[in-house]
Amino acid sequence: MSFVKGLQCRECKHGYEVAPIHVCEFCFGPLEVVYDYEAISKVLTKEKILSRPPNMWRYQELMPLDQEPTVGREVGYTPLIRADRLAKVLGVKELYIKNDAVNYPTLSFKDRVVSVAISKAKEFGFKTVGCASTGNLANSVAANAASAGLESFIFIPHDLEQGKVLGTLVFKTNLIGIKGNYDEVNRLCSEIAAKYQWAFVNINIRPFYAEGSKAMAYEIVEQLGWKTPQHIISPMAGGSLITKLWKAFKEMETLGLIKKNTARVYGAQATGCSPITTAVKKGSELFEPQRPNTICKSLAIGNPADGFYAARVMRDSGGWGEDVSDEEIIEAMKLLASTEGIFAETAGGVTLGVAKKLIEQGRLPKDESIVLCITGNGLKTQEVLLGKCGEPQIIEAKIRQFDELYEKMGA
Ligand SMILES: *Cc1c(COP(=O)(O)O)cnc(C)c1O
Ligand SMILES: [Zn+2]
Repeated sequence: MSFVKGLQCRECKHGYEVAPIHVCEFCFGPLEVVYDYEAISKVLTKEKILSRPPNMWRYQELMPLDQEPTVGREVGYTPLIRADRLAKVLGVKELYIKNDAVNYPTLSFKDRVVSVAISKAKEFGFKTVGCASTGNLANSVAANAASAGLESFIFIPHDLEQGKVLGTLVFKTNLIGIKGNYDEVNRLCSEIAAKYQWAFVNINIRPFYAEGSKAMAYEIVEQLGWKTPQHIISPMAGGSLITKLWKAFKEMETLGLIKKNTARVYGAQATGCSPITTAVKKGSELFEPQRPNTICKSLAIGNPADGFYAARVMRDSGGWGEDVSDEEIIEAMKLLASTEGIFAETAGGVTLGVAKKLIEQGRLPKDESIVLCITGNGLKTQEVLLGKCGEPQIIEAKIRQFDELYEKMGA
């Protein structure tokens, strides 16, 4: 049973029936899923949630499906880690990492949105799914389409990391590399979606897809003992995740699952592709699209679809936006790994790098709770660390050689 009332334009509020559409025909505003919270609050109690298996579908009443999910039923409920060793380095008291680098099945937060999108595409009767991707979405659509027995067409900028490319091809999809950046890929995919009538998860299925991100916030609240963190830092590409984290916190307050949403939300980008944080720092509502130039390819969207709304979330919640250089990204990836044993991809370096910067700026207070959203796995972006973590010591299998080496190491 579904608690969805329909779709609604975020701008002019015109209502639409549930359908594979994503823009308002009157004002071209984005469409958003609207729920019957009154009805949900009667069935979705804490006891009900806690009685369900540990995956994101324990919040299924807040997801836009008519039936049980058919794809990615095991997604979510990733660990929330108390990061005391990292906190000490940063000089803060209460730090947590929401670790979506270990999400099922393709090790990024995109597995959440894809499970919703492909389950919904199946409800609509589509036989072919697709996406425009900066990498992680490609991996997840290919994997989930394979397990659902659907054909898939995946479009990426041609120069992505090996791990992202191979981690897509292995699922026997149709992978198309476009000679251009993500924004050019996305424009082409809009035309293809219209012409071929396929379900592009982040284009014509986008209103449903984006709802999957909310589960990350529900889980954080639950894992913190039914309260919002005081501060949460989210990486931004198209700006969808950060807006949905905020929507989810507000929903939990509406439903009475928490007393009050007191979270301040901060957005993180790479300086080499920072259209959203640049607008926030300028106090501007206007976005200037950028031509991405950063090692953080997963966040390299120069013309973000939800950038405007992402900026508004940072402003409304009392948060802020900041960005970091490629060097700072690498330093942060190494810091996270060496203090907490978590190997995050470049986007994780962006999130931690920005947190560090915000703490140094005094924007993040040292004695309040902070959650870092780690959204992707470092095994997929290994090339950025080549030559940056030292080399293994090679010796023969002889104890004498190790003795000598050990002495040299001065350990
Ligand atoms: C896609 C992605 C995000 C966020 O993307 P939005 O478009 O802003 O929702 C964050 N981190 C990683 C690793 C991603 O792949
Ligand atoms: Zn409208």
